[in-house]
Amino acid sequence: MPERPDIDTILTSPSERTAGEGLPINPPVVRASTVAFPSLRAHRDAVRDRFDVFYYGRMGTPTTFALEDLVARLEGGGRTVAIASGLGAITTAILSVVATGDQILVTDNVYAPVRACCERFLKLLGIDVVYFDPMAGDILPLVGDRTRAVFLEAPGSLTFEVPDVPALCRQAREAGLTTLMDNTWATPYFFRPREHGVDVSIIAGTKYIVGHSDAMLGLVTVDDSRFQRLNEVANFLGNPPGPDDCALALRGLRTLGVRLRRHEESALKVATWLASRPEVRKVLYPPLPESPGHEHWRRDFDGASGLFSVVLEPAPEAAVEAFADNLRHFRIGASWGGYESLVTRPRPEKSRSATSWDASAPMLRFHIGLENPDDLIADLEDGLLRYNQTRDTA
Ligand SMILES: *Cc1c(COP(=O)(O)O)cnc(C)c1O
Repeated sequence: MPERPDIDTILTSPSERTAGEGLPINPPVVRASTVAFPSLRAHRDAVRDRFDVFYYGRMGTPTTFALEDLVARLEGGGRTVAIASGLGAITTAILSVVATGDQILVTDNVYAPVRACCERFLKLLGIDVVYFDPMAGDILPLVGDRTRAVFLEAPGSLTFEVPDVPALCRQAREAGLTTLMDNTWATPYFFRPREHGVDVSIIAGTKYIVGHSDAMLGLVTVDDSRFQRLNEVANFLGNPPGPDDCALALRGLRTLGVRLRRHEESALKVATWLASRPEVRKVLYPPLPESPGHEHWRRDFDGASGLFSVVLEPAPEAAVEAFADNLRHFRIGASWGGYESLVTRPRPEKSRSATSWDASAPMLRFHIGLENPDDLIADLEDGLLRYNQTRDTA
């Protein structure tokens, strides 16, 4: 049996469906609603095989399929369905495994829009949601007759706890539950969820996969036994990504490895510097030993991306604003995973119920982009000076 190529080699491998002599390296962008068939019979056959052939734009075009094939290879096998956004991918994945009357267990550190989806959408559909502490280690006491699934975000993209994913998956399997995981932070480059027991692997492709802050995308990968149901639910919800966005994601993927290695190197440098500062109480970044679940990260992940949070020593909000508002190289805005550095002010205390969060110490979340990290550190040093000055005069 041929050995599986290294992930850097997979990232740059040609698309099997479009590669060949006399053809461009990259699959063409195929824009389509209608696909024309030579006969009624051929059209009927295509309807039957719609999960595998180019049949109608809503089910994907050859550009979509080239992206899905490459992501499935990165995920270590199975099949991938592309959706128009990361949140759309999460909703689609959840609705492919639970129905009215069922219960789903959701990690308490889940990203706020997913919690809003649980509270204001799933619950209206009659799907019960129970939150659990990602670091508790034992979810079996929460499992009831109607529990069907467990949703993880590892690490949490605000507070960065890394749970023991293989142990949670073993418990879930024992209880007959399906496990879903949001793997946006690590991407399959640094963590392949299904190799650790996860059934449904989800990525907000908007972040590192696209990598340039210019397209929205979600990706869900499952084994063959779950693929048909997933694809069917995706089709009913009807929000496929456009072919141009799939082409942007394919282009982004080719450099995912080099970008992530650079994000990791720079983020580690900046995070370590921040951790040494007296204004900083704690840096929440899985590679740092004091970060919650560091030992799980070290055991299970191949690396770290460029996103982390910093808990500052208590100060008036004006000091936090003086720090963050005037940075030269960090823009303020949602999302992350592009080439640029970003800062936001998360409030985890507002989206927790199974665990609590001390809101007295302000938190900032940084995305470390591809700039020279020394420039970023100099910028943050000036920011902390403003933080101290504002704190002392307040
Ligand atoms: C951004 C994000 C999403 C949602 O992705 P969109 O493409 O913005 O819908 C989901 N999960 C995590 C962890 C994210 O950071």
